[in-house]
Amino acid sequence: MNAKILETENVTVSFDGFKALNQLKFSMEVGELRVVIGPNGAGKTTFLDVITGKVQPTVGRVLFKGKNLRSLPEHQIARLGIGRKFQTPRVFLNLTPRENLEITSNHNKNVFSTLFGRSHATESNSIKGLLETIGLTSKADIPAALLSHGEKQRLEIGMLVAQSPDLLLVDEPVAGLTDEETYNIGELLLTLAQNHSILVIEHDMEFVQQIARKVTVLHEGSVLCEGSFAEVQNDSRVIEVYLGQQQE
Ligand code: ADP
Ligand code: MG
Repeated sequence: MNAKILETENVTVSFDGFKALNQLKFSMEVGELRVVIGPNGAGKTTFLDVITGKVQPTVGRVLFKGKNLRSLPEHQIARLGIGRKFQTPRVFLNLTPRENLEITSNHNKNVFSTLFGRSHATESNSIKGLLETIGLTSKADIPAALLSHGEKQRLEIGMLVAQSPDLLLVDEPVAGLTDEETYNIGELLLTLAQNHSILVIEHDMEFVQQIARKVTVLHEGSVLCEGSFAEVQNDSRVIEVYLGQQQE
């Protein structure tokens, strides 16, 4: 059995000869919460694109639960169990948070309860639980348009979870949020990490420190170093690439 949920083997992505990812070797275990950081242009978004099938590796392989994803279209990769949250919230503004969760919830995974005729109760229970997890119980039945930016982000993370993916990819979830909303998103991801595999891309170092277990630093399309937040923060190579960026 393969205990790795995700692996990349020497993945290179070239755009007209420019290597956005360069021989990238990465792996994470089932159940892990991993944070990927790196200066602008390091290849973080391309990394997610190559996992979800939006971009094909020029060289190398991406393995999800040991399965090679090469040539699979995006919707099939999503169906295999990879869910992605984009940077800007994409919730249905005219629907309530409850309705947003209802329409995105994965009915297939409730197939046994359907057989026993309990699907409706099971589903409304899980939506109730999910509303609590994302802290939107008191706003469950107002239009999503009335939510704050942070609440919309939490709702969209809830919608991602409602699809029951095996791996959650979360791209810069706290960009543009207040400190309090940032903290809430961090706590939400920590709660979800108790029973999900999660890969988070983020810039905000305070937030990274709040949620980090193992951190991977990308630089020029490759892994520069990996370790705990403290290890990575004190690594001279990491300090150099971040300082280099500030001086530009
Ligand atoms: P990050 O998310 O870490 O800031 P990206 O993955 O967005 O970095 O980009 C990595 C590098 O690849 C950047 O230099 C970017 O300009 C380049 N790049 C990304 N996508 C494309 C594309 N479709 N065509 C050409 N160059 C691209
Ligand atoms: Mg990016």
